Amino acid sequence: MSKTLHLLQSLALATTLQFAASRAQQPAATTVGATGANDPSVQNALAAIANDFMVAWQKQDMATISNILAPDFLFVGPHGVKTRTYTLNVLTHCTLGNFTLQDFQMRQTSADSAILLYALERDIIDAALVSYLEGDGSTWKAKPGVARTKEDIIASAGSRYTYSANTMAYDEAIESGAERLALVGMSCQSSVPPVMNQRRAGKAGRRMALNIGLLCSKTFDDAIFEELLEAKYGLKRAEIKKMNIKGRLQIWMHDGRYVEVPLKECHAFTREGCKMCPDFAAEHADISTGGIGAFNDWTLTIVRTDIGRELMDGLIRDGWIETRPGDDDPGAIALMHKLSTRSRKRWPEFAIDAPRVVPAPAAPAAS
Ligand SMILES: Cc1cc2nc3c(=O)[nH]c(=O)nc-3n(C[C@H](O)[C@H](O)[C@H](O)COP(=O)(O)OP(=O)(O)OC[C@H]3O[C@@H](n4cnc5c(N)ncnc54)[C@H](O)[C@@H]3O)c2cc1C
Ligand code: SF4
Repeated sequence: MSKTLHLLQSLALATTLQFAASRAQQPAATTVGATGANDPSVQNALAAIANDFMVAWQKQDMATISNILAPDFLFVGPHGVKTRTYTLNVLTHCTLGNFTLQDFQMRQTSADSAILLYALERDIIDAALVSYLEGDGSTWKAKPGVARTKEDIIASAGSRYTYSANTMAYDEAIESGAERLALVGMSCQSSVPPVMNQRRAGKAGRRMALNIGLLCSKTFDDAIFEELLEAKYGLKRAEIKKMNIKGRLQIWMHDGRYVEVPLKECHAFTREGCKMCPDFAAEHADISTGGIGAFNDWTLTIVRTDIGRELMDGLIRDGWIETRPGDDDPGAIALMHKLSTRSRKRWPEFAIDAPRVVPAPAAPAAS
């Protein structure tokens, strides 16, 4: 997403909030300051957004209000990350609580990022090894990097489907003085911290204070952009806004188009190593997260260790995230088991046997 768009979104929300604040007869604390706001084209765009919002507000036209707040955006403040529904609720009831306008930012972020933001704010980690898009993002080239601040974490959110070896950012993190690191990475990367500890590479292993694994069935070669997305669908990489995999490759374009590409067509671009991968569900992580499931806006989250449990309990207790039981979407859990089992069958014949054995699902606890 371009910086201008970020700026427009931040300022649009600031405008929204000022309006909401004035309705509630609460003084607007400050406006969001951002470089480039004097640019006449930005000013004009902002005026148009503010005007549209005012009209929608007067009509209490929730569809438009909601649209101006942007469909994929959540609320990030000093007290955590809230859903868009929550943000809308806050705005429509004009209860700005303890927030100042400076605290509001409208950015794309979600479960993984909420966990990292919380761990950073609660001084559980100093930095996180994550993935960014190179340059202004228009090349869609994912690269490893270090997130040290709230802004860094928000900038690294979202999924890219080419490979980014986030562990490679370890040296940069240590050189910057960080000691307690979170690693975010696909299943293969989330095996790194436990393996380091097992193999007694203890110093590096101990620095991995938090291990967040992404459910993963494959990554693609960079060639997918030109040879499939552009050649067959006319989707230029520089014009892609967001990508996701949910049974098919979903692509949102900056011009508003939404395109679905069957995964069958993407198979030819799967990286060779991924065809042998034995771990779909990031089973070595403290917390594994995935996009499968019936609910578009929810991240399937599996807590696997005490560290993960403590952290998730804190996030829930302090109101940073909303949760719903896995039972709400049994199909997602079943699919995760199915895909994990399928991957585990790839465990090589020449290696020790134990990891090939897939544990039976746990029996329900006796009441
Ligand atoms: C390559 C890839 C394949 C995936 N395949 C599946 C799948 O088959 N099934 C499924 O259910 N879920 C899959 N996921 C996970 C899913 O897309 C989401 O990443 C996950 O649900 C977390 O979402 P979120 O909104 O909580 O994360 P966010 O808050 O958006 O955070 C995502 C984190 O992942 C990091 N990241 C993004 N792209 C990469 C990358 N290419 N390499 C390393 N780190 C990256 C970001 O830096 C960020 O820290 C895959 C993710 C990736 C990156
Ligand atoms: S499929 Fe396996 S090897 Fe390939 S990126 Fe995902 S976790 Fe790593």
